Amino acid sequence: MRSALLALAAAALAQDAPGPKPADTEQWTPIPPVVTPGRTDAAAPADAVVLFDGRSLDQWVSTRTKGPAGWKVEGGVITVVKTAGNIETKRSFRNYQLHLEYRAPANITGSGQARGNSGLFLASTGAGDLGYELQILDSWKNETYVNGQAGSVYKQNPPLVNASRPPGEWQTYDVIWRAPVFAADGSVTKPARVTAFHNGVLVQDGFELAGPTVYIGKPVYRAHGPSPIKLQAHGDPSPPISFRNIWLREVP
Ligand code: MG
Repeated sequence: MRSALLALAAAALAQDAPGPKPADTEQWTPIPPVVTPGRTDAAAPADAVVLFDGRSLDQWVSTRTKGPAGWKVEGGVITVVKTAGNIETKRSFRNYQLHLEYRAPANITGSGQARGNSGLFLASTGAGDLGYELQILDSWKNETYVNGQAGSVYKQNPPLVNASRPPGEWQTYDVIWRAPVFAADGSVTKPARVTAFHNGVLVQDGFELAGPTVYIGKPVYRAHGPSPIKLQAHGDPSPPISFRNIWLREVP
């Protein structure tokens, strides 16, 4: 009787909140198979634009203030300072090949989306979380909706496989990004396209994005030009992740 009443109350609450909800766009199955990655190696090639060489965040600014990025650099590694907010590159890019390394700390806590959440915004189209997010998350034995796990195009496409390494180990993303193309009237003539390798394993195979990332509802393209690349300071309470060795090569 008591649980029936609780269920009724929950149903009434759900009816009180009409409109789209975050859960509407969560996909939970099928779960991508787990693949143990091999070794990955990624020194910057000679023609790369080096975005972080272990020394400084000179190439980055705070998305909020456009001033200094405000994340911690120590021992050749960037560590997210969540209170400082997202950071983005000073330079803007269109099409590129990008390499990035990240590590969730060995003492990571939390579960689901609240465990080592960050994100690589392949094109930042505004402050906050505006842009196209390739998800960064500790997805080592950590269940969440599959279009929100590491290697997903957030809320749009799950990774082909789960190639995550355990927390405490460095992981790599290698990404080929083709920016969307817009007509003079602002309509999209060529959707954005992404190919991505997680720890050397293919996770996105030329996926065509439906638009920029949205947390709730359906994506819609809005015309933009060359854009910065952004890293996310996610508000979850788990210990912050780190980055190193970030570079890209512009593609004509
Ligand atoms: Mg994220």
